[in-house]
Amino acid sequence: MTDTLLPSATTLPQERRLITELPGPRSRELMARRAAAVSAGVGGTMPVFVERAGGGVIIDVDGNSLIDLGSGIAVTTVGNAHPLVVERIQRQAADFTHTCFMVTPYAGYVEVCEALNRLTPGDHVKRSALFNSGAEAVENAVKIARAFTKRQAIVVFDHGYHGRTNLTMALTAKNMPYKQSFGPFAPEVYRMPMSYPFRDGPHSGPEVASWATSKMEKEIGGANIAAIIIEPIQGEGGFIVPAPGFLPALKEYAAQHGIVYVADEIQTGFCRTGDWFASDHEAVVPDLITTAKGIAGGLPLAGVTGRADIMDSVHVGGLGGTYGGNPIACAAALGAIEAMETEDLNARAREVEMILRERLESLASAQPAVGDIRGRGAMMAIELVMPGTVTPDPELTGRVAKAAHAQGVVTLTAGTYGNVLRFLPPLSIPDDLLRQGLDIVAAGFNG
Ligand SMILES: *Cc1c(COP(=O)(O)O)cnc(C)c1O
Repeated sequence: MTDTLLPSATTLPQERRLITELPGPRSRELMARRAAAVSAGVGGTMPVFVERAGGGVIIDVDGNSLIDLGSGIAVTTVGNAHPLVVERIQRQAADFTHTCFMVTPYAGYVEVCEALNRLTPGDHVKRSALFNSGAEAVENAVKIARAFTKRQAIVVFDHGYHGRTNLTMALTAKNMPYKQSFGPFAPEVYRMPMSYPFRDGPHSGPEVASWATSKMEKEIGGANIAAIIIEPIQGEGGFIVPAPGFLPALKEYAAQHGIVYVADEIQTGFCRTGDWFASDHEAVVPDLITTAKGIAGGLPLAGVTGRADIMDSVHVGGLGGTYGGNPIACAAALGAIEAMETEDLNARAREVEMILRERLESLASAQPAVGDIRGRGAMMAIELVMPGTVTPDPELTGRVAKAAHAQGVVTLTAGTYGNVLRFLPPLSIPDDLLRQGLDIVAAGFNG
């Protein structure tokens, strides 16, 4: 059957090549049609339409070859159109496209759950359930934690991002663009201080955790809290890596009070940080873990995985959805996970970190606006400030990102203050292309 498969986009030349201005004429035409057909509420980073993508490049409809430092927001970690993903998708699509797992099940769903149970932190007995999007996974983690604890309060953190549905908007910290004019929001959500070493000064992780836990005690009461939900490295909030000891202290508090500790690893999971999951770094074992983004090589799939006693505490029929764990998305996930294991992509993420660090450190020594370099693995960022202060400089951040875009480098921004440039390259990017992309970003500071 292999001979009937379409050729993979991973054979694309791994080079930056601009043959028109950006956007080129065909992209401009499509942008006009987009404006006439697509809601203005859907944002856009670059006005460039895509034709193919693979390795570390995105080819646009005008034939320009761009360097991808975003992976479609940490999704195509294994590389766009990875052959193992493409092949499994094509086979599954030819066999059947949907039955609904709750109506007539199929093995792919079970296999993805087995992989999640095996790869997530901790060797306790686990169960998983699959959904379509990260936000849906987080919502289900809340449902499960409430059903298990018979409590209502949910604790989240400053700068946290958990999605755009009504409940996950309530969990998300930042107003613009995620929440503005979309309320009222779900109740029983409490926001606590986050460890943010660049802005906390010399306070240790356990010290900041004690501010958060004493606030929980005083304002909610530990016995009323169903779940503490935290990104072990914050994504949209600006790649904030909490000080060592912060996450273990929160986990310990949760265990003492019968609170379900939920790690939202939707952005950090699946080799992104050089471990299977960012929680692994400090050996924190979450009670529940939410996954999405990198799990399925680009197809929409999400999961909640965790302690069997918690996951099985929900009444039969209480969890599910028409499309959750779609067979093609599951096939893609099994291909992506196979790629991560056979290509040792955790090791690759650590190599990518070395290249990112080296380039970003030399940038920081030349540009006093670079206040902080942080992140782990292929999830690194720089925070831009007024030199010598911690005052955010979102204007410079936007300017540098735009300059990179104009030169054919796909870069993303982030951060509560909009002053973080984040780098999330696919792990399939060649080293020289990554260095070239970072050099172009650096040149944007002088433009
Ligand atoms: C992206 C993201 C989500 C939401 O995922 P969607 O698939 O966009 O709904 C939730 N949590 C984190 C940490 C994320 O990065």
